[in-house]
Amino acid sequence: IPETEFSALATLDWRNESLSYAQLKAKLPRPAVNSQTAADTVQQIIDDVRAHGMETLKDLAKRFDHVELEHTRVPQHELDRALEELDPKVRLALEESIDRARVFAKAQRPDDAEVRYANGATVTQRWVPVRRVGLYVPGGLAVYPSSVIMNAVPAQAAGVSSLALASPPQKEFGGLPHPTILAAAKLLGINEVHAMGGAQAVAAFAYGVEVPDDERGGIEPVDVISGPGNVFVATAKRLVKGVVGIDAEAGPTEIAILADQGAEPGFVAADMISQAEHDANAAAVLITDSPELAAGVRKELDKQVAATRHAARVTEALSGTQSAIILVKDLEQGIEVCNAYAAEHLEIMVAEAEATAARITAAGAVFVGAYAPVSLGDYCAGSNHVLPTSGTALHASGLNVNTFLKAIQVINYDKAALGEVAAHVINLANAEDLPAHGDAVAVRNAQ
Ligand code: NAD
Repeated sequence: IPETEFSALATLDWRNESLSYAQLKAKLPRPAVNSQTAADTVQQIIDDVRAHGMETLKDLAKRFDHVELEHTRVPQHELDRALEELDPKVRLALEESIDRARVFAKAQRPDDAEVRYANGATVTQRWVPVRRVGLYVPGGLAVYPSSVIMNAVPAQAAGVSSLALASPPQKEFGGLPHPTILAAAKLLGINEVHAMGGAQAVAAFAYGVEVPDDERGGIEPVDVISGPGNVFVATAKRLVKGVVGIDAEAGPTEIAILADQGAEPGFVAADMISQAEHDANAAAVLITDSPELAAGVRKELDKQVAATRHAARVTEALSGTQSAIILVKDLEQGIEVCNAYAAEHLEIMVAEAEATAARITAAGAVFVGAYAPVSLGDYCAGSNHVLPTSGTALHASGLNVNTFLKAIQVINYDKAALGEVAAHVINLANAEDLPAHGDAVAVRNAQ
């Protein structure tokens, strides 16, 4: 990597601009490949899976993952073997990560709510888990056993009884998902694992796949699909939303860092690189009011990228339209940019980090101060790492126990309690010209 490579990382100088919220949103750095551009390819894959089921899953495994599959279902003995052969250090780390994630997921569980309007008149909201979920664990460029934990722990804390996991088949492991993923699944008690990746895995979970003549069975449709993935996975989730629930669009990863001149350039650069190593489409955006810090970070990038293992992928990610250094005139403008960008991960490395973090209104997760890097949250903070991307943090949340719960409202009135509001019901029914609604109360003789 030549020393000047990081001239490819764009600088957007907004110090003299006063941008409205709409102008700001339009100018923010975003990836060239997104859910709109990938939609045609992905819709075709979904249609093929619906029409041809397992045959399409096998064809696409061959095309994208270069493996010949007989069936997607991973045999039990392979899960057992993967856990037996797991490196003990990795097992300990996974267990620590599971323990921390469980405590946080359990703490998130909402209480049922009950209101008693009168004797014999109660309305209750009950939280009920969905029956079955499909968990997607990426496995194209990197292996994500941590994503098994991040998906499964909140689903289990919610009380979901049927969990199925999908991860792309790997050529070097005989067409099975990566053994560390299988081991993590086994550790969490997940027995249904499918070797399938990309948009086709999402389609198979959403619509189900029937394989009548095979004792391994098919794939039963799920109620919710959760998990991160590349642009094809994220787009597929968007396209099947409504048929099933989805957690959020957790596509190619993003980091935004709000930093001032007191920030450590070496830390900032390391965190930008750690995000960029996920994917050539990953985004790293530094927002700062300090040109000196920006220069220091560029210098560090020159040095650190050359030494990093996935230098080519990192360089591509940092050179894309989705990555930039944004110069702002002050912290106020910096906060505005952060809230419009709605990063998946936002790091705050400014003098008043906590007070600044409290003013953030849109982000998947906020990392406060110099010693809370995104990598901590990826594995062991206790928080979830499956988080909304592409600005969807404006309205969506990271994966949490609520993703797998739905609220049922239960109405329980007796005759006297109905009588107390009967006239209002009848009057409103008449006002809406729906007199049969009123009759349904009157027929109960409750007035
Ligand atoms: P992946 O499992 O998401 O995707 C691999 C699959 O993509 C392949 O099996 C194939 O089926 C499909 N695919 C590849 N090329 C295709 C093409 N041209 N057309 C159609 N389908 C194609 O693994 P990955 O690619 O390594 O991506 C992992 C992603 O997950 C990264 O983008 C990373 O940033 C993201 N991630 C996001 C979060 C989050 O919370 N947002 C967390 C972890 C990882």
